[in-house]
Amino acid sequence: MKAIFSLLVFVLLASGCAGQHYPERHQSCHSGAVLLDAHFDGGQLGNCVIPEAGIFELTLFPEDMPPINPSPWYAYRVSGQPGDRVVIRMKFHEAEGYARYWPKISHDGMNWERVKDDQVTVSADNRDMELKLELGQARIWVAGQEILAQDFYRQWINLLEALPGIETGLVGVSREGRPIYLAETADRSEFILLMGRQHPPEVTGAVTMHSFIDTVLGDTELARQFRSRFKLAIVPLVNPDGVAAGHWRHNTGSVDVNRDWGPFTQPESQSIIRWVEKQEAAGRKLQLMLDFHSTFEDLFYTQPVSEDPSDFASIWLGASAARLPDFPFKHAPGPTSEQPNSKNYFSTSRGIPAITYESGDETDRAQLETSAVIFAEEMMKAMLARPQE
Ligand SMILES: [Zn+2]
Repeated sequence: MKAIFSLLVFVLLASGCAGQHYPERHQSCHSGAVLLDAHFDGGQLGNCVIPEAGIFELTLFPEDMPPINPSPWYAYRVSGQPGDRVVIRMKFHEAEGYARYWPKISHDGMNWERVKDDQVTVSADNRDMELKLELGQARIWVAGQEILAQDFYRQWINLLEALPGIETGLVGVSREGRPIYLAETADRSEFILLMGRQHPPEVTGAVTMHSFIDTVLGDTELARQFRSRFKLAIVPLVNPDGVAAGHWRHNTGSVDVNRDWGPFTQPESQSIIRWVEKQEAAGRKLQLMLDFHSTFEDLFYTQPVSEDPSDFASIWLGASAARLPDFPFKHAPGPTSEQPNSKNYFSTSRGIPAITYESGDETDRAQLETSAVIFAEEMMKAMLARPQE
């Protein structure tokens, strides 16, 4: 009996080590003249086999053991002759994945649309998704969400650099040496930190953040007044390595960066907190932290709502809701837990509103953008209404 038990323990331990039960990861795979490849930033096709000509079977699995929050990312190019028919079966690895992201398609890698309903079949248990495509041109992109990787952020930062009163640079570099961009406005005694993309597949959070940032950096009376009181620090791509590698959740140090606020074991969170501390050492006070993410719906995780009529989150989100009757979203206040995420860290250590701004995975992109303008305007108004210390 003891021997059997020991054997069982051994088997469990062995299977739990270093993810040996995951199949080999491929960067490309072809059947006849049709090629699937993931040789680009954000590319991910998992393990590929060809059960018969014209059919690709992809097994998608997360980057690390133990299983992480299932955000089963996939992104690949399909190349062939216009008119070629291709069937792609995606199998989401047992216990760790399911058909979460409806496939999107692009003909130029920049403009995306949802794959039509009749081209996609999802199994009853939600573990398998089959995609039938006819190539309209020699190369198309397929992905779980729009691919917004390093190039997108580089171009964005270049545009910001050209705006008056904005400086761009790096807050640091990632574990693999990729730039962690920072855009900042003029020094003020109060500052606000805006972060995005701690979690690689959370692309709708990036769509929202882009529009939100445009608004706070805009050439409007409100935005100018806001920036004359508050300095803005914008770190739009906190986890560039995870994004480049097509990860579900982690950086390349096998860590969820949004569980590293407190421990600070990773270069991504370390570089940001060092920068914040440098501002504080220069006498500036952090007044608000917003962290852009994505989940199943549009919602805001905040600190518990206080009785205090000056409760920032209630004022901000209440005023936004009044202007957004057609954009349902939730205000989800909750007690600060031990979980070392950015929200808990900044609210506990600085005593400030620290909010996770979650955009829905499949929320209409135009709605995300227009609502972000309203949320940005109301954020500015609510912050300006706070008494200056
Ligand atoms: Zn997230």
